[in-house]
Amino acid sequence: MFDSHKLALGALLFCGAGEPAARDAVIAEAARRGFAHLEAVDITACEAQVIEINGVGVALAGASPSAARVFASTPARVLAAELDAFDAAIVVAPGLLPFTRVFEGRVWHSTGSLARTANDGAPRVWFGVITAGETPGSLVFEHVGLAKSASDGLWADCSMLPKDELKMRGQPLTPAPIAWAPGAPDFVWPTITAAKPIAREKFVHPEITAGGDRRARVALDQLRTLWINTGTLCNLSCASCYIESTPRNDRLAYITPAEVGAYLDEIARDKLGTREIGFTGGEPFLNAGVIEMMEDALSRGFDVMMLTNAMKPMRRFEEELVALNQRYGARLTMRVSLDHYTARLHELERGPRSWAPAIDGLQWLARNGFRVHVAGRTYSGESESAAREGYRALFAEIGLAVDAFDPVALVLFPEMDAGVDVPEITEACWGILHKSPSDVMCASSRMVVKRKGADAPAVLACTLLAYDERFELGRTLAEASAPVSLNHPHCAKFCVLGGAACSRS
Ligand code: SF4
Ligand code: SF4
Repeated sequence: MFDSHKLALGALLFCGAGEPAARDAVIAEAARRGFAHLEAVDITACEAQVIEINGVGVALAGASPSAARVFASTPARVLAAELDAFDAAIVVAPGLLPFTRVFEGRVWHSTGSLARTANDGAPRVWFGVITAGETPGSLVFEHVGLAKSASDGLWADCSMLPKDELKMRGQPLTPAPIAWAPGAPDFVWPTITAAKPIAREKFVHPEITAGGDRRARVALDQLRTLWINTGTLCNLSCASCYIESTPRNDRLAYITPAEVGAYLDEIARDKLGTREIGFTGGEPFLNAGVIEMMEDALSRGFDVMMLTNAMKPMRRFEEELVALNQRYGARLTMRVSLDHYTARLHELERGPRSWAPAIDGLQWLARNGFRVHVAGRTYSGESESAAREGYRALFAEIGLAVDAFDPVALVLFPEMDAGVDVPEITEACWGILHKSPSDVMCASSRMVVKRKGADAPAVLACTLLAYDERFELGRTLAEASAPVSLNHPHCAKFCVLGGAACSRS
């Protein structure tokens, strides 16, 4: 039980895993700093409890999974969802690093831990202090470092840290009190540098960068994968859908089996050596010709990669899919989009009631012996290794035999914010980055689309730039075999620097 009289004045909030020595150390340090009058609360033992300080409810996250997932750099939308889950204005969590983030008048206060340093190069471990502010209903947040001997303050393994926190490794923290009252402006301690917008002079000239260097180009080594966009209509309207699909967006129309067949004929006629046909949308299973197109590709000996959200549109074709899998299962992969391993963050992106049908669809595919891959996203702000561990636990729970640490079986796509500054890729970048143009998707793939109102499909450089006419290369695969100039922020952020690809065979 807490001493509610003492709590009215404030609290020492620590993550001590129930160790009496930790509590004593916190109380001794707090007394030295003039906080002897405050209650000491080990928050790891207080999951889902709410304490009241100066008339403000403060939710203690305890061992909630969010505690390790939220960082100072966590994207705003994700942070809002995590705060909503506690239904409180203030959440205190035993996070991996100490920080305080004031967001839309609410606060996430991570105490840090008494078991590990803040990775800031100083031999200190951390606890949090919340005290009553000067007026009723206001608070002051602080962090206190406790000396920890025999430590250089740096972590040997930083794999659980998001990239912004990784950049702050070795930068000593200088804590300062943060005053808060309802409606307080957004604030974060320690400071994370805001992303710069992209400069207007970048990504303009097809051959020369804003800095006057020759822009990188990528030649088509071989058309290993041909993507077919089946149409942009989708049963969902995901918040960050790269192709802006919705139940109403038909800018890319339903392509027909005959149109797809003509490209498969061209591959055979010109002996292009293409191994894989990928189908993407929108939701491909909304296109009534989808099974015919799949069968055409499979019966000609191609591998087929089907991208789907595994929801109702796919389930309309259960019988046909099972039959295709019986005949061609060794060459058929169903890649299901699951934006996060938690229902809350998946639905934040994909909308309410999108989680359960997707999980059900995944389990149906697994039960019926399909080879399943999963496409996730890193938009939660977590590190890749933390995300993969989260997916591993989910797959084990739902009985899905997908190796979450295999980057092909679980592909994690980086965020594609074209408005955030990225360097332009010059010819010299390949050497500097130790990368080869052959590693980039447009060295081995193209995408066929049928624009609404067009009399014939067109071939684009890749799956990512469906509406940018500079990346429309021709009507036929032969016309579309010209080199591609990397003249879009996605080229830098997603492909060259982010290293992602829609298909890695
Ligand atoms: S399910 Fe896929 S295609 Fe449909 S809106 Fe979501 S991300 Fe876009
Ligand atoms: S976005 Fe990637 S695959 Fe597309 S053109 Fe640019 S580098 Fe090539």
